[in-house]
Amino acid sequence: MTGKKKKNVLSKSTFIKGLQCRKALYLYKNRYFLRDPLSPEQRAKFVRGTHVGIFARELFPGGVDASPVTHFQMAKSVEKTRELIEEGLTDVIYEAAFSFNDVVVALDILYRENGKWMGVEVKSSQAISETYHWDAALQYYVINGSGLELDDFFIAYIDRDFVREGEIDPWKLFKLESRLEDVKLKSNHVADLISELKQTIALKSSPDVPIGTHCNDPYPCDFIGHCWKKVPPGSIFLLDGIDEGRLFEWYNKNGIKTIDELPESVLLKPEFKNQLESIRNHKPVVDRASLAGYLSDNKKKQLILATFTFSPAIPLFNGTKPYDILPFGLGWTDLQTMKSGIRIIDPERNSDTETGELLLKEAESFDIIWVFNDTLEKAVIDLYARNMPEKKEVLLALKSKFVDLRQPWDEHFVVFPTMKKLKNPEDILTHFDREFEKLPKNLEIPQEVDALYQKLILIDNEKEKQEGLASLEIYIQSRLKNLANLQKLWLEFIQG
Ligand code: SF4
Repeated sequence: MTGKKKKNVLSKSTFIKGLQCRKALYLYKNRYFLRDPLSPEQRAKFVRGTHVGIFARELFPGGVDASPVTHFQMAKSVEKTRELIEEGLTDVIYEAAFSFNDVVVALDILYRENGKWMGVEVKSSQAISETYHWDAALQYYVINGSGLELDDFFIAYIDRDFVREGEIDPWKLFKLESRLEDVKLKSNHVADLISELKQTIALKSSPDVPIGTHCNDPYPCDFIGHCWKKVPPGSIFLLDGIDEGRLFEWYNKNGIKTIDELPESVLLKPEFKNQLESIRNHKPVVDRASLAGYLSDNKKKQLILATFTFSPAIPLFNGTKPYDILPFGLGWTDLQTMKSGIRIIDPERNSDTETGELLLKEAESFDIIWVFNDTLEKAVIDLYARNMPEKKEVLLALKSKFVDLRQPWDEHFVVFPTMKKLKNPEDILTHFDREFEKLPKNLEIPQEVDALYQKLILIDNEKEKQEGLASLEIYIQSRLKNLANLQKLWLEFIQG
């Protein structure tokens, strides 16, 4: 293994970025300031991946961590790994770092068995994707190139069928698959790809890459704000219901940029009539007849109901599987009295039947139950029904009273440009310039709420726990108000 210090040009993440889009790599290396701010979704994904990676160390316990103190100190990490291997100080290294051909990589787990070194790359997902193979191939190429011969290379990922019973056996939670053959095959192309990517980075100006499906595949690109700013107002991308690949073909190959340049076969389709009108006039268009049908039972007793869930990658309770959706909270508002109630399940207890009882008690007497995303709400009801067999029928009967607050949006009873991007009640209210309760800053997306509740299950610090619960309470109260505002908004639209 060479100990020579050299500036690295590429890493695992920049290599994968370059495979996704040469322009994204160029901009990242040369025009970093053009990058979009990190989205809360990306932050949450990163946190989840790190958590699983740390737990996976239990597969090979007692190793030495070679992680750098900061991301900018990878050279020290490479040096530390080299020393650990050459001086035979351990048989297991976490975040073992290697450098070769101007590329630096950090392998999740490097272990020695019968004198031979093996590599393990850990993924928090439940399947192995093509991108993971490229990631592994790069690591294999760099590690072998740096002088350490790997006898095997494994990808560890989460077994979706694992059910927790007591302490978790990491060998049952993770599946370890040898991918040496695939990785070797791909690694034959890695040298050429590295040289191509280095040439891209050294260009005088950014390569001319048109926007396309690759902007979000396999990962959302960091430069969408920059590249997409040339997309004109009234663009064809505002249209919902047409395959994305087709839209890009029209845009890039046929020069069809705005909706008015679309072929007549699309312009005359009845299902696009309202959308096209809305995009042209930049005004909401309401299908009053459909909306009236949807809101027809307005005089009956109505309740807003919201259950709040989390989905731990590593099961926290007996009888649960990885990524099971579990309720942690409940909120409701009687639309006549506007009285609300909330309950947060004690983080130290698994889904309790008391919350199921409470849900039933609060919701049973209502004729209409407004929910946001009825698929999720119905799944939670199914879960309570499984845990409370004696109340199964009454619980399941609640589902027939559900009316989804997303329906007017999903089914285009109300349309407004950029509608396909809206994901939650706050998005819709902002989009229509309506007042809404701001969610706590650290709880803007479901993944952040999920992460906070998981943290509350694991921490011992009582003060921190109470603060976390207080934030969740504010979050639930705000969401309930916003759901009531959303219901009001749909009523306003029908009144004109
Ligand atoms: S936004 Fe699209 S075209 Fe632009 S750099 Fe990213 S992936 Fe490439």
